[in-house]
Amino acid sequence: MGFKTVFDDCDILIVGGGMGGCGAAFEARYWARDMKIVVAEKANIDRSGAVAQGLYAINCYMGMQWDENQPEDHVRYARNDLMGMVREDLAYDMARHVDSAVHKFEEWGLPLMRNPETGRYQREGKWQIMIHGESYKPIVAEAARKSVDRIDNRIMVTHLLMDENHPNRVGGAIGFNVRTGNLHVYRAKTVIVGAGGASHIFKPRSVGEGMGRTWYAPWSSASAYALPIMAGAKMTQMENRIVLCRFKDGYGPVGAYFLHLKTYTQNAYGEQYEANWYDDTKAMVGEYIDHHPTPTCLRNHAFLREVAAGRGPIHMVTTEAFQDPHKETVGWENFLGMTVSQAVVWASQDIDPKYINPELTTSEPYVMGSHATCSGAWASGPEDISPSEYYWGYNRMMTVEGLFGAGDALGGTAHAFSSGSFTEGRLAAKAAVKFIRDHAKDRVNVSDKQIEDKKKEIYKPLENYQVGRNEIVAGTVSPSYLLPIHGLQRLEKIMDEYVGGIGVNYMTNEPLLKFGLEKLRILQEDLEHIGAEDLHQLQRAWELKHRAIASECVTQHTLFRKETRWPGYYYRGDYLKLDDENWHALTVSRRNPESGEWELEKAPVYHIID
Ligand SMILES: Cc1cc2nc3c(=O)[nH]c(=O)nc-3n(C[C@H](O)[C@H](O)[C@H](O)COP(=O)(O)OP(=O)(O)OC[C@H]3O[C@@H](n4cnc5c(N)ncnc54)[C@H](O)[C@@H]3O)c2cc1C
Repeated sequence: MGFKTVFDDCDILIVGGGMGGCGAAFEARYWARDMKIVVAEKANIDRSGAVAQGLYAINCYMGMQWDENQPEDHVRYARNDLMGMVREDLAYDMARHVDSAVHKFEEWGLPLMRNPETGRYQREGKWQIMIHGESYKPIVAEAARKSVDRIDNRIMVTHLLMDENHPNRVGGAIGFNVRTGNLHVYRAKTVIVGAGGASHIFKPRSVGEGMGRTWYAPWSSASAYALPIMAGAKMTQMENRIVLCRFKDGYGPVGAYFLHLKTYTQNAYGEQYEANWYDDTKAMVGEYIDHHPTPTCLRNHAFLREVAAGRGPIHMVTTEAFQDPHKETVGWENFLGMTVSQAVVWASQDIDPKYINPELTTSEPYVMGSHATCSGAWASGPEDISPSEYYWGYNRMMTVEGLFGAGDALGGTAHAFSSGSFTEGRLAAKAAVKFIRDHAKDRVNVSDKQIEDKKKEIYKPLENYQVGRNEIVAGTVSPSYLLPIHGLQRLEKIMDEYVGGIGVNYMTNEPLLKFGLEKLRILQEDLEHIGAEDLHQLQRAWELKHRAIASECVTQHTLFRKETRWPGYYYRGDYLKLDDENWHALTVSRRNPESGEWELEKAPVYHIID
C-alpha cells in the first residue's frame, strides 16, 4: 500500500495530548531535562479532547490558599457522590496537588474570573471556579508543546507494544498517521496513556444525521481503555457509566445554572418532584439518600421516575433568574465558552429562556474516569498514603510495568475534571521518570515480528475493502466486509438493549448481559472483516475496535456487580437494591491478551479519610 514505517525511540511516550497528556508533557520535562519525550495524538493538541471547544469553569479547585477547602473535603465529596466507591488514595493525591496546576494555567494566560469583593477566584459552586475558557486548550497545549521533544499530531495509536526482554512490561506503542497512512512505531521505556473516555458505545438519543450530537465528544473513542485492556492491564469500576442530566438536544451544561444562577427543575405541571421520590429511593439505597449533597445518580433517579410516572418532560426554571440581566448574560455566556450548539438549538426552536423554561433530558451512558464517574485502569497510588493493596512502586502505574495513565484512563478517581486530569498527568510523569531512572540498565526489546504482526492487523481493514469491493454488484453492501458505521450502529444497539441504555430506561439483568456478551463476541468476530475505504475510515475502524473491546469490559463488570449501586446511572433488575454488605467493594477485571478470557474480582474500598 506504499506506506512508510517511521521508527522512533524515546524515553517517555505520551498517548493522547488532552488534559492528562499535556500535564504529563509539562511535568516530564521538569524532572527529566535529559530524556526524550514524545506525544502521539490522533487529532491536533491545540484543539483536541474533551476540552477542545473550551470550558466555562474549572470544576476542581480546592482554594487552599484561602482555606476554602482541603483535599480531605474533596475526597469526602467524591466518595459521597459515587455512593462510597472511590480510590481515596488517588483522589486525595490529586486534590492536594490540583491548586498548583490551576495557578500554572493562570500564569500561562488563562483568564480566571475574580470575585470583585474578595479578590479570590469567582466560585460557581463549592469546587468550581469560573473562567473565560474558550482558549483553555490551546493555552495548556502551548505549555506541553514547549516542554517535549516532539508532538506527533494525527497519529492514531492502535496498540501498545510489549517489551520482550521483560515479562509484563510495556515497550512502546504503534499506530498510523491518519493523513499520510504511514506506520509509526514508538519504542519507549514508559508510556503514559491519556487518550480520554468513551462516547458512542451506547446508542445516542440523536441518531442518523444528528448522531454527532452527544454530550460527550464523539471523538472520545475508548482508546484509553482498549489500549491497556489489550495489553493485559487490570481495569476497575467499568460498570460505573455516567448518565448526564442536560438541556435537551444541545446537551448544554447545567452546572452554572444550578449553582450560580440558582435555577431549579420542575415537571410538566410546574411541580417540584424530587422530594416525592424520597421514600422510593430510600427503599433502594438506604441512608445514602440522606447524604448532602444528594448524589448525582439519585437526582437522575428521581428525574427518571417522574418521567416514567407520566409527568414529563422535566424543565429547568430559567424564567425567574433570567429577569436579572447579569444572570441572563452569564446564562448565555456559559454556552458560548463551551457548548455554542446549545444556544443555536434554542434559537432554532424559538426558545428564549427568559420567557420559556427549557426542557432537560438524560443522556445515553458514557464511560469516563475523570468526570463524575470513575471507570478506568487499576493503578498504583502514591507511596505515602496508599494501603499496600493499592501500591506497587510507582504512582499512577497500571498493572503492566512502565505503563502509566492520567485523566479518563485511570479508574477510581472521580471528580478530577480538567484540572485534576492535568494534575494526574503531572503525577504520572514524575513517577515515569523515576521508573526510567530506577531501570536505567534495562533495554527495551520490541522484535520485528511483533511489529510486522501488528502492521498486518492495522492495515487489514484497507485490504478487506480492496478485495471485498470487487464483489459488490450494486450500492455499498458487500458480502465480505462491513463498514465502520455499520459496526458502530450494531455495537450501540447491543449496548443499548442489553447493557442498560436509553432504549430500556437504563435497565438490565443477568440474562440480558449474558446475551449481550454473546452478541459482542460475534461482533468481535465480524470486526475481523471490517472494510476501510480510505484512511479516514481506517481511523473509524480502529476507533470502533477500541469501543467494542471497552464495551465488552463494561458488560463484564456490569454482570459481575450484583446490585444496583447507582440508580439513575443503571439498574440491575434482578438486584434492584444497593447491597453494602456484599458489594461495598471495587470491581477489578483483567482480560487475558492471549485467550481473550476475562477474570473479575473484588478489591477492598479503603476509607482512608474519615
Ligand atoms: C462535555 C464535557 C464537559 C466538561 N466540562 C468540564 C468543565 O466545565 N470543567 C472541567 O474542569 N472539566 C470539564 N470536563 C472534564 C474534562 O474535560 C476532562 O476531565 C478532561 O478533558 C479529561 O482529560 P483526558 O486527558 O483524560 O482526556 P481528553 O482531554 O479528552 O484528551 C484525550 C486525548 O487523547 C486523544 N486520543 C484519543 N484516542 C487516541 C488514540 N487512539 N491515539 C492518539 N490520541 C488519542 C484525543 O484526541 C485527545 O486529545 C468536561 C468533559 C466533558 C466531556
